[in-house]
Amino acid sequence: MEKILEVNDLHVSFQTYGGEVKAVRGVSFDLHKGETLAIVGESGCGKSVTANSIMKLIPSPPGKIANGSIYFKGRDLTRLSEKAIRDIRGVDISMIFQDPMTALNPTLTIGNQLTEGIKQHQNITSKEAKTKAIDMLNLVGIPNPEERMKQYPHQFSGGMRQRIVIAMALICEPELLIADEPTTALDVTIQAQILQLFNKIQQETGVSIILITHDLGVVAKIADRIAVMYAGKVIEVGTRKEIFYTPQHPYTQGLLNSVPRLDKRKEKLVPIDGTPPDLFAPPQGCPFTARCPKAMEVCGKVYPIHSELSNTHEVDCWLQDERAKQHIAT
Ligand code: SF4
Ligand code: MG
Repeated sequence: MEKILEVNDLHVSFQTYGGEVKAVRGVSFDLHKGETLAIVGESGCGKSVTANSIMKLIPSPPGKIANGSIYFKGRDLTRLSEKAIRDIRGVDISMIFQDPMTALNPTLTIGNQLTEGIKQHQNITSKEAKTKAIDMLNLVGIPNPEERMKQYPHQFSGGMRQRIVIAMALICEPELLIADEPTTALDVTIQAQILQLFNKIQQETGVSIILITHDLGVVAKIADRIAVMYAGKVIEVGTRKEIFYTPQHPYTQGLLNSVPRLDKRKEKLVPIDGTPPDLFAPPQGCPFTARCPKAMEVCGKVYPIHSELSNTHEVDCWLQDERAKQHIAT
């Protein structure tokens, strides 16, 4: 499968009064055409910062991409000028955020907002833009699109607003859609509908999707692959099956134990004790050491070796490495 995105050794930090926060510390992953990759982790793990780096939306200062590259269709986005990246944003790569209201202008009709988006980037007539907007609203499941184009954001429910935001993100036919906690603000039934919508959109348009969430449950049905982030690093990545059925990193296992599962209804949910490390001064060893039920002596001293368990399954944990035992012995 064709790779459309390659993130290599990405480091992002923020200058604050308290010192430098190393929010992303050497993240690498790729994304194939038509694939959904979920990036999962607790708040502050660096998942949104990673996503925002792709769109070059890191405010600088105080933020900066300190190292690494982000290749999108062969071009390193980290090296593009602000103008070049503006031509890509919303056209080749679109982003959806948690709160649909921030993406919508309360003073403009939905129809206006949809057609403006496309007319800005494509040389088409108002009539063509309108047709396209109606098609998009149909795709995302807004009934009576022609009528509803005349309405304002406040005349729609939260779920409908998020559908409209998705339509706006798709109207220029981007190749990559980044959705950062797109269902967090919605109630559970609506969440499920929006997630199904992502599936449908992908089938119909072939768009690649990066879905950012703190909730592993959300990605169970729609992610092809899952990258689990912790303290600014991807600590495990694998197919949905590998992550859900044979998770290897104790943090991933902990996340799974804290997610309600349909097949394990009676089991008690166990939250992970403790908090992630301070990213002003990240630990030199495994960042999960203080919370890990399986921590060994070596864990707090040396960052674990990266292990490839299959073509798709990779993990950073000393449990995978025979040498850990030697470390313990010495
Ligand atoms: Fe736990 Fe050690 Fe593995 Fe880190 S490296 S997750 S502390 S066992
Ligand atoms: Mg976030």
